[in-house]
Amino acid sequence: MEQVKKVPFTKEMKKTHTILIPTMLPIHFKILGRVLETYGFHVKVLDNFGPGVIRQGLKNVHNDTCYPAQLVIGQMIDALETTDLPLDKVALLITQTGGGCRASNYIHLLRKALVQCGYENVPTISASFIKNEQSGGFSLPPQALLQMLYSCLAGDLIMTLQNQCLPYELHSGDTNQAVEDSVTLATTVFQKKLLSRKKILELMKNIIDRFQQVERSHEEKIKVGIVGEIYVKYSPLGNNNLEEFLLSEGCEVVCPGLFDFLLYCSHNAEYDYQLYGKGKAKALLMHPVNIFLRNCKSAMVELLEQSGFDAPCRFENTIHAAEGYIDKGVKMGEGWLLTAEMVELIQKGVNNIVCTQPFGCLPNHICGKGVMRVIKEKNPQANIVAVDYDSSASKVNQQNRIKLMLANARLMQEKEVSQEPFCKNQEKQNVSSVSHPSVSQTGHHAGFAASMTCEESSSLRIGPVANNG
Ligand code: SF4
Repeated sequence: MEQVKKVPFTKEMKKTHTILIPTMLPIHFKILGRVLETYGFHVKVLDNFGPGVIRQGLKNVHNDTCYPAQLVIGQMIDALETTDLPLDKVALLITQTGGGCRASNYIHLLRKALVQCGYENVPTISASFIKNEQSGGFSLPPQALLQMLYSCLAGDLIMTLQNQCLPYELHSGDTNQAVEDSVTLATTVFQKKLLSRKKILELMKNIIDRFQQVERSHEEKIKVGIVGEIYVKYSPLGNNNLEEFLLSEGCEVVCPGLFDFLLYCSHNAEYDYQLYGKGKAKALLMHPVNIFLRNCKSAMVELLEQSGFDAPCRFENTIHAAEGYIDKGVKMGEGWLLTAEMVELIQKGVNNIVCTQPFGCLPNHICGKGVMRVIKEKNPQANIVAVDYDSSASKVNQQNRIKLMLANARLMQEKEVSQEPFCKNQEKQNVSSVSHPSVSQTGHHAGFAASMTCEESSSLRIGPVANNG
């Protein structure tokens, strides 16, 4: 790869510079940003979502590069163009997975884009739980890593509770207030640098209690799982506000947490050693990390189970969920975790799933779209739609695909066929009798969806933009 100028973030810059961080998970990143502030960094989590973002992405990143790279780098360049901060006092931080996928090269693409735009003197920081690039001024003590992990756990908990309260709240704004209060609660606890297990359990209990106060209706809504490539799954910028759209369609969103990705990465190190006999030191190091992370997640699951809210699965279940569908040696991108998340959702009765993928993302097309057929064969009630995200994909087409899937979901719900093989029952349906109000919103497309077979519903191409890889 072509060498580009690298401006490091020095110790002196810690006092003078504001670090701009692109957003992926709004709740998690807010907490993580505040944790960094407790270590003396000035941080701004970016919230510029306008058309300038993708314009800058397309201008400065090759259009063959992954869509998340275009958005993340576009968001940072757009922020530099529009910020009120002096440009000689800002730095950029990019998070990287540190795995074998193209995501591990985003930092080089960013530096190249900065040179191209005349911002070559802006310092850049690459941050990863797995492999950090040396950056003198951006070093954190070991307890900070612990605080970051707990921040991800707290973020997952808040996100899970938000998803279960928002569609049912009786007083508009109550859930968002509970989110704000919980973020404040978490950051207050994380300001203390030494965190005991007792403190974390107490924090999680307090967060759950805060959400218990949100008055909710008991109506039954269609649950829709969101899985896919990590950026487009979580980032409203990446998935065209998918959660908001599903809420407007009267659904409850079920989204697996970020902690699962950390568990997946640490588990992979051990599995690599089992498979190839290489990386013994890494495997030995990751084993206790994985156990620690599993315990953290299990504690959260237990508290949710006791509270009456729906709890996600323990990681032990996640590992087994993928068996019979995909080998755990498949670990580029989200790898086997993506398959496992779909199976797990179905096991929990969430049969309707949106599998989000950046256009041309090979790993996720294999582990997402590539396994849908076998998932549907083994779980005929599965109602999965793969949606591709790309700068040239039309939002309307993406939403229409999801509406088709929802039309099927409503039919399944209305006819109470979820326990029977969906395709078999579908044949019995008289599709012209579809009369659900939300189905009629989608007009003839809904009827069309209802007449599709399971296989067709996952691979349907609509209109001129058919971005299904
Ligand atoms: S997972 Fe897909 S989108 Fe992400 S870096 Fe890899 S190829 Fe690109």
